[in-house]
Amino acid sequence: MYFKSVDFSTYSSIKIGQPTKVLILERDDDIPTDRYLVGGANNLLISPTPPPLMMLGKDFATIDLEDTILTVGCAMPIGRILSFAKRRNIAGFEFFAKLPSSLGGMLAMNAGVKNYEVFNILHSVNIDGRWIERDEIEYGYRYARLKGVALEARFKVEYGFNYSLLDELIKLRNNQPKKPSAGSAFKNPQDDYAGRLIEAVGLKGYRYGDMEFSNLHSNFLVNLGNGSFEEAIHLLKLAKKRVADEFGITLEEEIKLL
Ligand SMILES: Cc1cc2nc3c(=O)[nH]c(=O)nc-3n(C[C@H](O)[C@H](O)[C@H](O)COP(=O)(O)OP(=O)(O)OC[C@H]3O[C@@H](n4cnc5c(N)ncnc54)[C@H](O)[C@@H]3O)c2cc1C
Repeated sequence: MYFKSVDFSTYSSIKIGQPTKVLILERDDDIPTDRYLVGGANNLLISPTPPPLMMLGKDFATIDLEDTILTVGCAMPIGRILSFAKRRNIAGFEFFAKLPSSLGGMLAMNAGVKNYEVFNILHSVNIDGRWIERDEIEYGYRYARLKGVALEARFKVEYGFNYSLLDELIKLRNNQPKKPSAGSAFKNPQDDYAGRLIEAVGLKGYRYGDMEFSNLHSNFLVNLGNGSFEEAIHLLKLAKKRVADEFGITLEEEIKLL
């Protein structure tokens, strides 16, 4: 293991943060339990005083196909898994398109689009050096209790990459804000949409400093240039308060606050 300075104002998708010393894990390292694991930082909001951080290094950016099992390292950007699946005509990975993520982050968030979620296609995960079958893990909408660091994952391979599904899912992305964000700010509450609620309390397009609930998609908190952690927190708190006051619904952040 070694330390590296990561500038979260450029590395994170929401472009908030500062240069921070991060411990990089290599294969066979003992995994510290007192550090927060960062993946691609597409779902994170980093404060000026984050906890100690770690990341998986290049040793975990691997992809191997053997018989009908695909084994992928959790530092792998999922766009590269999609390219591999396309090249080898493997089915099931179409929804990885334009979803910014490392494989580890995707597993921890059970990330997905519509009904397509990574746990639907997962076979097993190597957590802290021990292989665990999918059904032994508790998971649901945008969460999975991994209880450790996902190092690698296995998928059962079926053939027949679906290009029309790929096109359909890519089209969905066209309505998404292009400005820096961390994806959806809040999880959708049961039988409702966080975006609808944010709009209903008058916060669609609402700007504070350089942060804004996007006009295109109210549940995307976007950075207009020099947005700060404090401005983002102000808007998250405001939306939670208004939605609670007007609808009695508690919005839960999907973004992780560090
Ligand atoms: C423009 C945009 C669009 C998005 N669209 C979607 C979407 O359609 N669907 C969706 O589900 N999400 C979406 N997101 C959110 C984000 O892409 C996902 O949550 C993604 O899976 C985060 O992955 P990451 O590698 O960036 O993880 P990070 O943001 O770095 O971390 C997220 C969580 O995963 C944990 N984690 C990371 N790696 C590991 C590991 N190896 N082992 C254990 N835990 C780990 C972290 O500790 C943290 O709790 C979007 C984000 C953006 C910016």
